[in-house]
Amino acid sequence: MLVVNDIAEIRNVISQFRQVGRRIGFVPTMGALHSGHATLIKQCSEQNDVTVVSIFVNHTQFNVQSDFDKYPRTFEADTEVARAAGADVIFAPASHDMYPPDFRTFVEPGQSADPMEGEGRPGHFRGVATVVVKLLNLVQPDIAYFGKKDFQQLAVVRETVESLNIPVVIRGVDTVREPDGLALSSRNVRLSDEARRQSPVIYRALIKVRDAYESGERTTYVLENLAMTEMQTEDLCRVEYATVCDARTLQSSEVASDNAVLCIAAWFDDVRLIDNIELTSTTK
Ligand code: AMP
Repeated sequence: MLVVNDIAEIRNVISQFRQVGRRIGFVPTMGALHSGHATLIKQCSEQNDVTVVSIFVNHTQFNVQSDFDKYPRTFEADTEVARAAGADVIFAPASHDMYPPDFRTFVEPGQSADPMEGEGRPGHFRGVATVVVKLLNLVQPDIAYFGKKDFQQLAVVRETVESLNIPVVIRGVDTVREPDGLALSSRNVRLSDEARRQSPVIYRALIKVRDAYESGERTTYVLENLAMTEMQTEDLCRVEYATVCDARTLQSSEVASDNAVLCIAAWFDDVRLIDNIELTSTTK
């Protein structure tokens, strides 16, 4: 496995693979890799000749500086996880190379960036869209893999790639969960024992709403209230939003569409968790 830090070098490595007709798959990450990331990397290596994993803690997507400072940096362990999952190249650029002092060209994301995370974290998706476009331009993959765990991020990336005509296939990968339903996240280790015990309430709320949707319920506020009521059964859980919206545009309407998603953000003490479930017509 090759570890590349330099921008000129990654271009060189990629062009050599391209010259011999290799299909390149790409998994962008911010490091602190767990089995969720490993699943993306495994899928990528099964479907491509070369798997490139980027590890870059992108400061432009943090709207709170202290979150950026606190973000776990575990590079040695990450390279082992990536290698074991089938990565061929790790691309870990320096911040000052990705964003030189005179950098001021940003990608303004479309409507999918407006609600939910976009409201709570101003500028977050502008940073995400900018770094993803930069990384796609450097790695030039045939397919790039993103977790459905960050459903809105996946929608923003799809909209950006489509709007800017970037020639890449974006593939969403199912969320990897603990046996009790909690979605894997680097934040989970920060949960207290009691918060960790209560945290599967998010998954229970998602399943309740999916069951109601599949039984024919389409009224958005009824579905959202179901989620809220379930989450109120655990006293540490403070819901930031529980929103049913269209899975592609992420816009809400009074009646849920046939291709919808429920997205939840909830706090347990000072730890903010997000999760979601797709709502698709099966029984109607
Ligand atoms: P991150 O480094 O946390 O920004 O995540 C890198 C990629 O891994 C993103 O596309 C995430 O959506 C994805 N990811 C994170 N957690 C999970 C999970 N539990 N299941 C599937 N994909 C995940």
